[in-house]
Formats: sequence, structure tokens, C-alpha cells
Amino acid sequence: MGIQIQNVSKSFGSFQALKDISVDIKSGELIALLGPSGSGKTTLLRILAGLEGLDEGAILFDGENITNVSPKERKVGFVFQHYALFRHMTVFENVAYGLKVRPRKTRPSKQEIEKKVNDLLKLVKLENFQDRYPSQLSGGQRQRVALARALAVEPKVLLLDEPFGALDAKVRKELRRWLRQLHNEFHVTSIFVTHDQEEALDVADRIIVMNNGKIEQIGTPDEVYENPRTPFVYDFLGNVNIFRGRLHNGKLQQGQFEINAPHYLDSHDEAVGYVRPHDIQIEKEQVNHETVAAKITFVHIVGPTARIELQREDTGEYLEAELPKEQYKALNIKKDDIVYVRPKQLKVFIPEDFSI
Ligand code: ATP
Repeated sequence: MGIQIQNVSKSFGSFQALKDISVDIKSGELIALLGPSGSGKTTLLRILAGLEGLDEGAILFDGENITNVSPKERKVGFVFQHYALFRHMTVFENVAYGLKVRPRKTRPSKQEIEKKVNDLLKLVKLENFQDRYPSQLSGGQRQRVALARALAVEPKVLLLDEPFGALDAKVRKELRRWLRQLHNEFHVTSIFVTHDQEEALDVADRIIVMNNGKIEQIGTPDEVYENPRTPFVYDFLGNVNIFRGRLHNGKLQQGQFEINAPHYLDSHDEAVGYVRPHDIQIEKEQVNHETVAAKITFVHIVGPTARIELQREDTGEYLEAELPKEQYKALNIKKDDIVYVRPKQLKVFIPEDFSI
């Protein structure tokens, strides 16, 4: 089912939690709502579920306005961070619950319920746990029960609020794979809230990046990572190096240092170039003004990657470079050496970009 969110605004007292949000979600998409704490992610999810009203705007499911439709009638499934499974029910009973409480006319038979629950438990690899109680499960297993339970009622939309937030990194990773697999199997339009950029990049078809009750960017993981529309998105989606300067004749200049900037930008007295650590090149000799001298302050090798921290000789600012370990070794450089740093890819923002 496709979801259309049209010009939605929501305030709590004088605080505006959502400011004119519009998004078109295609049927079967897996969407991550990504943003820092307080950016309005949960509020938007609750509005989609019908648990929260809105002040302005509309929510449409497949083109039909459901803004005033009750949560029960919306056919949405939920999974929350601390999902309250029924403690006095077994795993089987928890998953079966939504089917058993259906009105008699649409309620499946006992055998049908049994088959469905067993299939789902197999899918989440908990077929041997059906008689356990929630207290006898790990956090990751509980979330898998919660997922199976949400899917049992064949929701048209699946909403997940930080579903793996409370779990340790390894289990989170495993569950992410699960979510992807389940999504592939069911093709149910799914929206999950996260403040973990890696989780969003890893799992989602598209990411909605939120900040301050507004949408900063919507795009595929590749689009938002490689082509961030705003400084906020750039910063939120990974480490950055910042080069401040003035923009003149297609170059970003700062003292002696100048580097080609995108030609379509007009001149500005203030501009900021953003560069990801893997787009920093390190050279041993100064070739031209496109490099800046810096001292290596720290080298950290993790697996195939060398992470190098440097301090600029001219401004004292710190930079971070990331290069393949082999390349680092071939350069034959070490802590305290002075090297020359060249940004290979630069995204330039002007002051207006900071006030979106
Ligand atoms: P987190 O990642 O911390 O869960 P979030 O992005 O999900 O954050 P929301 O829970 O949507 O953010 O909250 C957005 C803002 O709205 C916050 O500043 C929050 O304090 C405020 N807010 C949310 N619900 C209410 C409420 N019922 N009454 C008053 N303020 C609220």
C-alpha cells in the first residue's frame, strides 16, 4: 500500500514538532526515518498509525484519505523498541493473539491459526520456542516474536519505532538482516525509525532524513550519503572534514590554499567545503596550491583501513583521512611527519544552505 503524507504539521502546545511534512511512499518500500533525538520521527510514526492526531495536512493510504480513520481500521502493524509482549502468554499465543481476537466473520479456523503461527515462527527462527514465555527469551528473540506478531495479521503497513534500539550491536546487525529478509518475503510497506545512520544506510530502500520537525532530504542510501543536500545531512551521515574559505571564480580559497569548487556556484565571501575522510588524498610533496600541509597526529589501523588524524599547519584544525592499509604502507609515512593533504571531492555549501 502506498502512503501519501501531505503537508502535515503538528504542535504540542507552543512547540512545533512537525513542520509541513510531505512525502510519497511507494507500495512495498522499506523506509528509514532517520534523525537526531527530538527531530519528530516518533511523532510522524504515531500520526501514521493513528495514535496521534495532526493539526494540519492529511494522510492517504493508496490515495484514500484516512486522516480520521481509527488505528484499528488502518491495518497497520507495530513494533516498538520495548515491545510489550503479553507476559502471561507464550510465544505461540503472543503471535496468534491478533488473529484470535478478530471478529468471528474474518477469524481464521484453529488449524489455520496454528499453521500461520508456525510458519511465522519458522521464518523468524523461533519454531522451537513457541512454548516459552517472554521472560525466558533474549532481547533479540523478543523482538523477533514482536515482528512475527505484527506480521501475523497481514498488515498493509508495518511501522517500527527503533525496533532494535535496546539491543547490542551484534544482535542489531542480525535483526537488520532479518528485517530485510522479512520485507523481501512480505513486500509490506514498512517504515522504521532510527537515529543510527549505519542502520538506515544498511537496510532502507530510501531514507527520510529529519531535523527539527522538517525533512532535510529524501533519497536512496547512496543519494543521501554521496550527495547530501544540506550541511546537516552531510554531517549526520558520516564523518566530515570542513574547509572554510571564500568562493571566488570557481575556487574555494583560504590563505594559500585553493581548490576547484563546483563551477555553477556564485562567488561568496563565506563558504564551507565538506569532504569525507575517504576523499582525502595524502601526498608527500607539495605539488600546487590544492594541497595543504598537515602533521600526522595519530594513525589507527582497523582491518583493511588506515585512519589517519592530521593537524593543519596553517590553521591548527584537525582533519581525518581514511585510506586502504596497503596504500598507507606504500606511502611510508608515520606519526609526526608533515604531509600534504588534498581533498579529492569537495561539496561546497554557502550560508543559505545552513538555514533550510
Ligand atoms: P527520539 O529519537 O528521542 O525518540 P524523535 O525524533 O522520535 O526523538 P519525537 O518523539 O517525535 O522525536 O518528538 C519530537 C518533539 O516533540 C520532541 O521535542 C518532544 O519533546 C516533543 N513531543 C513529543 N510528544 C510530545 C507530547 N505528547 N507532548 C509534548 N511534547 C511532545
